[in-house]
Amino acid sequence: MGALVVGGGISGAACANALSSAGVEVALRDRGRRLGGRMASRTLRDTGTDFDGRPVDIGASYFTARDPEFIATVDRLIDAGHVRPWTTSFHVAGPSGIEGISTGPMRFAAPRGLRSVVETMVDEAVSVISSSEVEAVVVAGTEIRIDGETHDVAALCMPLPQATRLHAGVPDSTITWEPVIAVTCVFDERSWPDIDGVFVNDDPVLTWIADDGRRRGDDAPVLVAHVHPVLSAGHLTDPSGVIPEAVAALRRVLGTDALPSWVDAHRWTYAKPLAAYPEPYWMHDDAPLGVAGDLWAEGPRVEAAWLSGHSLGRALAEAAASGTPSGR
Ligand SMILES: Cc1cc2nc3c(=O)[nH]c(=O)nc-3n(C[C@H](O)[C@H](O)[C@H](O)COP(=O)(O)OP(=O)(O)OC[C@H]3O[C@@H](n4cnc5c(N)ncnc54)[C@H](O)[C@@H]3O)c2cc1C
Repeated sequence: MGALVVGGGISGAACANALSSAGVEVALRDRGRRLGGRMASRTLRDTGTDFDGRPVDIGASYFTARDPEFIATVDRLIDAGHVRPWTTSFHVAGPSGIEGISTGPMRFAAPRGLRSVVETMVDEAVSVISSSEVEAVVVAGTEIRIDGETHDVAALCMPLPQATRLHAGVPDSTITWEPVIAVTCVFDERSWPDIDGVFVNDDPVLTWIADDGRRRGDDAPVLVAHVHPVLSAGHLTDPSGVIPEAVAALRRVLGTDALPSWVDAHRWTYAKPLAAYPEPYWMHDDAPLGVAGDLWAEGPRVEAAWLSGHSLGRALAEAAASGTPSGR
């Protein structure tokens, strides 16, 4: 019994926290070994460089904060040293190189990688169950059974195509999810212009380059490039096959001759939805089972995923207290 949140990305963490702070007993299950979802950082190992042991962000690049409740959460994370204001300015490039600079809102990053933000934000009272893939969610009347166990309330906090695979009652959506392959390049030394990140426009190979050393604050010579969704889509079964083109484009855009000493490619099949719904979450008509994530709350962004999970957690806490499903 109690509440089960499936999905340990930021929307699931926010949902579990909202339930827990309302006094509901809650478990958080994720199929991964660690929490974080698309706020993913991998630890460098066996690179043959001096940077083994260092985390690199291979999913979300950064996040922004506009909502007062999310800003308050981010402020607490900054005070605790888990988040750092990174930059308000990124460079803008075309296929043949950097063309200018663009200023926007503050982008936040994490000294220990964005995954650490999700890991540290989960309340101590939440029971975290990792490496635990949920197979099936069944609703019978008002009862919710997940892999054979009954729960008072439940949340599926993940991309909608993954939630629809778990429960046939979750509505399908026509919104397309675009893939991204993130290519991590570790160099021996820094040999490119002073940048934090570069939006790459009109290029068939890359859309974005992040300077992970500047992002993390340790100045390590590590870059992460995001491959154009069309090219990524053609390499989903063979992500490392895109590395030669990606590295050539990176050197072309940044105007550097240096070759990375170590390169790796990570595939995101559902990186981002191309649009998002204004509603904060989806709720089943008959049972307190909801879906949250960055397809809701005007995503697709980290902040939207947090808002979506937080709102769903509150609604499910009300449902748990009243014994009735609480929809929008
Ligand atoms: C390459 C890339 C770049 C991005 N850049 C940015 C950016 O710069 N700024 C920004 O704001 N956003 C960015 N985003 C989007 C951002 O990462 C997402 O909006 C946000 O992290 C979504 O969080 P979520 O909790 O909704 O989903 P997810 O993080 O995807 O979490 C879902 C979780 O559910 C788990 N799960 C799925 N199925 C099951 C199952 N059957 N059983 C158990 N667990 C399951 C998964 O393991 C995962 O941990 C980027 C995303 C990618 C991939």
